[in-house]
Parts: sequence; structure tokens; C-alpha cells
Amino acid sequence: MAAPARVLVVGMDALDLDVARELAGRGDLPTFARLLESSAWAETATPPGLVVGSVWPSINTGVTPSRHGFYCFLQLQPGTYDVRRYTPHDIAWPAMWQVLSDAGLRCGVVDAPLSPPARDLRGVQVVDWGTHDRILDVGAVPDGLHDEIDACFGRHPIEGRCDDYAVRGAYGELRDRLVAGVERKWELSKSLLERGGWDLFVTVFGESHCAGHHFWHVRDPDHPDHDPAVLAGLGGDPLVDVYRAIDRALADALAAAGDATVLVVCSHGFGPHFDGDHLLGAVLARIEDATYPRSPMIVQRERAYRLLQRWGRRVRGTARPGYAVDGSRRFFKVPNNELYGAVRVNLVGREPRGRVHPGAEYDDLVDALVADLTDLVNDDTGEPAVTRVLRTAEIYQGERLGDLPDLLVDWNRSAAITSVSSPKIGCVQGHFPGNRTGDHRPAGLLMARGPGIEAGPIAGHVDVTDIAPTVAGLLGVDLGPVDGRPLPAVVGAVTGSALRT
Ligand SMILES: [Zn+2]
Ligand SMILES: [Zn+2]
Repeated sequence: MAAPARVLVVGMDALDLDVARELAGRGDLPTFARLLESSAWAETATPPGLVVGSVWPSINTGVTPSRHGFYCFLQLQPGTYDVRRYTPHDIAWPAMWQVLSDAGLRCGVVDAPLSPPARDLRGVQVVDWGTHDRILDVGAVPDGLHDEIDACFGRHPIEGRCDDYAVRGAYGELRDRLVAGVERKWELSKSLLERGGWDLFVTVFGESHCAGHHFWHVRDPDHPDHDPAVLAGLGGDPLVDVYRAIDRALADALAAAGDATVLVVCSHGFGPHFDGDHLLGAVLARIEDATYPRSPMIVQRERAYRLLQRWGRRVRGTARPGYAVDGSRRFFKVPNNELYGAVRVNLVGREPRGRVHPGAEYDDLVDALVADLTDLVNDDTGEPAVTRVLRTAEIYQGERLGDLPDLLVDWNRSAAITSVSSPKIGCVQGHFPGNRTGDHRPAGLLMARGPGIEAGPIAGHVDVTDIAPTVAGLLGVDLGPVDGRPLPAVVGAVTGSALRT
């Protein structure tokens, strides 16, 4: 039987690698275990400090967040102090299937996270039917496909957001709906895949992502919120149930793929939600007030600007797009999905009312800020609260570098952080206010199986930005000036042919 696709990509959103390996080792994920044995594989490097929001756009496009510009569902609008909602439409680089389709190839895409509908797609795309993030409305291209899916498969069993189930403690229901969601997602994907004639077919399971956020304390006996009675009441680890369902779907996908080249992508992982993001805003304000107190004139000037802005909006009848950070400060917290704290410097020439000049003043301030942040101690453990602070300008380059935070705070995640202190700022306390007991970890995984691909670890550095050019390379297309490169262990083995631009 001819393969229904030349290349099949199966994504597992935030399916944790350590957990998967452990389960595979004890026979719980037989397909994953078999694939790991029989594929070329590599742990993938994900975008440092910005992994949570940017990993899927980087997988889909082949460029870093300093070029596609997306790292969080809330971002500072460059040139303003407004933090507004960002959507996949803000991703400033085309997904690989857009480029492939424009080159005349047929692509099928189901629930690739953070992916806007492609333009004039030669093929089909299902958008946010069962993703975790669901920033866009459920939709599909071409016209009519959404109705067809609705009629044949209905909606994804998770209604609204997965968080709604966790908030009311409905863990059993959440587990059952996620397992059913995996099964229904695969049935939907299979029905499209089996239409055949695909150059590329992509399907991504988002259920592993939801499970990691909400089941971490249920499964982890060391988590402060763990309750053995909840775990017993569920009859076992609900995360394992979801991972097993994905493993069963993967077995069916591999069977359906025939002799197609199959890439399995695990985007990033999970661990306990231990970080100090909820304290960072107060910490930064204390550092600034202790080091560089603001003059009353600067504070009043900022208030006046805000009043004027509000008045202007009222006159124009426009609403504020989100919320505003305090432009009277030299630096402030910006959103970054909690895993890494993010700090933006109020830079002259970049921000509307910059307070810090580029050059020596910026460098000295950043050095001092890094020292002050790494001085923080987790009062509950006596350990440093911050392991390191990354400077985006040293890690990233590209046309959207100025959109990114300046500093990324890597928390010491060995324990929950509810109180931090240092001689300079005293003590700042507060409990994490969210309901997600698991949060991400950076490591991802790529497995490639197909004719000519040798099993075993892929040597050298493998970055998530390599995935898109590798897929395109398998199909004989050059993605152009992306940051990643086609992996020779996968592309060279299969095609050996010249790339087409
Ligand atoms: Zn997440
Ligand atoms: Zn979810």
C-alpha cells in the first residue's frame, strides 16, 4: 500500500521526556520505547528562557523568537508601555507548511499549536480544535471542513479550557476527557491522513500539555499539594493514562504511515510549578527604590502621561489593549509564562520615555540588577532563589531582538518559592496564585524513522529550529534564511538529492 504521506510529523505537546523514558522503561509506553530503539533521535535544544511561548512557533517556522517575535500570549507592544494579548497572527515568520504549500506541495495540518490558518493552503488545516492554548477560534481550511469535522467528530471533549476542570477539582473528569480527546483527535487526523497524496501531514496531541499542568501534584508525592487520597480515588496516575493514550494513537499512526518518513516531536517537558515569577514585580520595585529612588517629578510626569492617554482613548472611543507597565521606572517585569522571569529595561531611544541610556549606563545597570537578583535567597530552604540570569542580547540575534525582554530570570526550582529576601530589599512574600501545579522544563525530543534513516542518537547539537528545515529538506524544498539547518542524519539518509529553492 502506498504511504498516505511522504512525511508524517506527530507532535506531542509538552510530553515530558524523563517521565516518558521512565514509563517506556517499565513497559507502559511500548510504542514510544520501540520507536526510541528504531529511530534516529536527539534531545532538542529549545529557545533559552523563552521556551514556553516560543517553542512551537520555532518548531513550525525554523527561526528563533528574536526573528518570529512571539514568546508569550501577553507581550509588551514595542514602542509603548502597553502589554497586550498576542495571538498566532503576530508570529512574523511563515510556518513550514505555508512555504511548502506555496512551493506546490500538499499539506495536512491538525492542531499544530500556535498556528494561524495558512493562506491559500494546498491541503487542509485544522486550527485549535483540541490544542491546549486555544488562542484562536476553532476553525479549518478549506471552507466547509469545519462543518464536516463537526458532523463526523464533534468537538474536542475538553470544553472551554482545561484549567476550568482543575479549578473545580474534577481531575477524574479531566483525565477521561483528555484520554477521549486523544482518541478522537487521532480518529479525526486519521480520516484526513487516509485521504492520501500528502507531501506533509502534521498532527499534534495537546492533551499531554494539559495533563502536565494539572496532574503534577496528583502524581508527585513530594509536591506540597499532593494528596494520596486524590491519587487513590483516581485509581492511578492520570498523567500516565494520558501518555498511554497518546502511545496507542502513535502505534496506529505508525501503522497508518506505512513506509513514509515519520518524525515524532516532543516539544518541551514538565516539572513542578516552582518559581518566583509572582514575586518578581515587587522584587524589582524594591531593588529600584533601594538603589535609584525616583524623583517625585518623574512619578508625576508619568501619571500625567497616563491621564492624557486615558483621556485620548475616551475621546477616540478606543479601549486599552491590555494593561500598562510603569514608564517612570528604570526597569520592570514583563509577562513570560512564569517559567523564567522576564525583565525589560526602560531604554532611551527604544521606550517612549526611556530612563536608561544605551551603552555604559545600561551595562552597569544590568550588571547590578543581575547581582541583586542572584543575591535573593529562598527563605524556606536557605538556597539561592535564582540560579542565573540570561541576557537575551548575548543569546539571540535577529530583527525582533528589540521585542524581547532584556533579562530572563532562571529560578532555582528545587522547591516552591513563597518568600525571598536579600540584605538590599528585605523580604518579599506571596504564594503562587495560579491553579497549574506543573510547569514546563526545557528539554525536547526528536525521533525520525524512515527508509534509509539509521537508528541511534543523532550526533551534535540539535535545535528545535532544525525541525522545519529538516522536514522541508526531506521534501526537497529549501526554507530559505531560517536559523536551523536540515539534519544530515535524517535528510541526507533519505533524499541524497539537491534541494529545491
Ligand atoms: Zn503550558
Ligand atoms: Zn490545556
